[in-house]
Amino acid sequence: MERNIESLKERPHWSYSAFSTYLQCPMKYYFRYIAQAEVERTGICLPFGRAFHAVLSERALKGPSFTREDALENFAVFFKGETEVSENLIYKQDETFDSCLQKGFDMLSVAFENWSDDYTVKAVAESFSIEVPGLSRPLIGEFDLVVADGGDEAVCDWKTASSKWPASKADHDLQATAFCYAYKAIHGRSPLFRFDVYTKAKQPTLNQYYTVRTQDELDRFAYLAGKIERSAEAGLFYPNESCMNCAECPYRERCKKWKGD
Ligand code: SF4
Repeated sequence: MERNIESLKERPHWSYSAFSTYLQCPMKYYFRYIAQAEVERTGICLPFGRAFHAVLSERALKGPSFTREDALENFAVFFKGETEVSENLIYKQDETFDSCLQKGFDMLSVAFENWSDDYTVKAVAESFSIEVPGLSRPLIGEFDLVVADGGDEAVCDWKTASSKWPASKADHDLQATAFCYAYKAIHGRSPLFRFDVYTKAKQPTLNQYYTVRTQDELDRFAYLAGKIERSAEAGLFYPNESCMNCAECPYRERCKKWKGD
């Protein structure tokens, strides 16, 4: 029976973001996934990304009948709703709700200018739950979009980012690895994986990054996932402080008080 991602989240599970959080900072993983601590701040990027993402899903589902005007209208509603439910929302310097709204409109205009209906849409927001050898809980996730072009199938993921990605980022991205693993477990074949990255620059751009994963890389992922689970079960939670990790961490104040207890 097909289930949506929210119902899959109700049972114990792993997700690529849980693995990624543990690798970034085991203490942050502890606050988010074990203690389920209240977030001290939610950056505006989060509700912005969710609203942007929801509009692209609508476009993929409804096809060309969903116009740019529909998209802007939907974004205004989704973005307002997302900001209203975000805990302790903070804006970046010089940003306001209205400036972010306008940025979303500009980025959606770029999305619509570049949208291609040449591919066959196989699935939109397709959730998955798979077993990974060595893990006691299933790995769950959601493919934003699956398209086919002749015999080739591509799993696509939409991202918003402050700038273009470095050329090799997609080839090392854990989400692409986890999702290719899941796709192969379900369909028996490896897909192409494509990130559609929309930049929030003054003149927004769309950059597409294709990547694939070899069987060795998928095996390595399963091994890594098992190691992370065993580390978490053993209670290995410690801070991994760095400007990059801590600058926007939603648990910064709580973390400062940690003394090993
Ligand atoms: S403040 Fe830094 S070290 Fe502490 S939990 Fe957050 S990311 Fe980890």
